[in-house]
Amino acid sequence: MDTATVRTTFKYQLRPTPEQEQALDLVLWRCRTLYNVALEQRKTWWERGQWVSATYYQQKAELPDLKTACPEYAEVNAQVLQDVILRVERAFQAFFRRVKNGETPGYPRFQGRGRYHSFTYPQYGGGAVLDGGVLSLSKIGRIPLRLHRPLQGTLKTVTISREADGWYASISCAEVPREPLPLTGRETGIDVGLKVFLVTAGGEHVENPRHHRKAEKGLRKAQHRVSRRTKGSKRWWKAVGHCAKKYQKVKRQRSDFHHKTALSLVRDYDVIYLEDLQIRNLSRRPNAKPDGNGGYAHNGAAHKAGLNKSINDAGWYAFRRILTCKAAWAGKRVEVIPPAYTSQDCSGCGERIYKSLSVRTHVCTNCGLVLDRDENAALNILASGRAGPSGANVAGCGERSLRSPAR
Ligand SMILES: [Zn+2]
Repeated sequence: MDTATVRTTFKYQLRPTPEQEQALDLVLWRCRTLYNVALEQRKTWWERGQWVSATYYQQKAELPDLKTACPEYAEVNAQVLQDVILRVERAFQAFFRRVKNGETPGYPRFQGRGRYHSFTYPQYGGGAVLDGGVLSLSKIGRIPLRLHRPLQGTLKTVTISREADGWYASISCAEVPREPLPLTGRETGIDVGLKVFLVTAGGEHVENPRHHRKAEKGLRKAQHRVSRRTKGSKRWWKAVGHCAKKYQKVKRQRSDFHHKTALSLVRDYDVIYLEDLQIRNLSRRPNAKPDGNGGYAHNGAAHKAGLNKSINDAGWYAFRRILTCKAAWAGKRVEVIPPAYTSQDCSGCGERIYKSLSVRTHVCTNCGLVLDRDENAALNILASGRAGPSGANVAGCGERSLRSPAR
């Protein structure tokens, strides 16, 4: 990784005219149709056993034929169409990866009207050019955008997306100069909390913000309204729109909270260690079940605690990506350690004290240490990270390469 610069995305709201909005909608519609057709074609190949590794290039090579057969596709930028094929390819790559890792595979799915929200110009300049406060899109027109913060670095790709309150352009830039934060000489480990969002090795508890629960309640209500109405009716679409706005609000609040939490950690610490959750999830059950007295599976409190934890886990991935990017930008480091009994072992003496998820306090029968369960885990994560490179990985920024289909 280049040390002086990072790659990052700048997102701006677009201000299209009603006609431009229609044109954007049409492009989105055509991209979605192409996505589904390409998926269908792959599925047929797969079922017939005609699987060849070059399918991405094969499908890409067929695009000119598509334009001859369906002239309306000539109205869509060629590189945007190629990117749609690339998305299908990525969906399949991810599917194969999941199969290989023994996860629930989840076959790539067809995208309905409500599930396909964006299209991408994979090469800046090829159909999308920014000119002052105006984004020029080939075959669509010049759309003003709200440049609320300046762009930096070299412009690489432009993704146009439709959200509940309008259209946005996400511009991915490379070689964005870092803005290093002063070094503090401090390190910490962090763990997902049972009741709180996260706990540091220093014993700081970062609470889940309260307004989340309120917004989430509003979202559930809106979802309920959608389910009560007749699907496809005018009132149903209205409820769907309302629900999408609520969802967007929850999403923004959560992302805002993640950014603030990450920034404060990056300010305070030079190195932040955390556990690789993907592996931990697979290894959790044996850890939680100590000696076959069945305390874990039948205990209601433990079940609820487990549920809370898994909800936190879901947000944790997004947070981890934000934290890693912020750290890279600030000249700090996030390291991922392989999980190994971090919540069971005593951070004082190393004795393994088995406990189910409902046990909130770590009580060591060997050295007498009494500590909050999550704090004990965070201390173990810190110790494991400091112990050295035996598996510790500098976390990647989670940035996806937009050019090459195979990563
Ligand atoms: Zn101990």
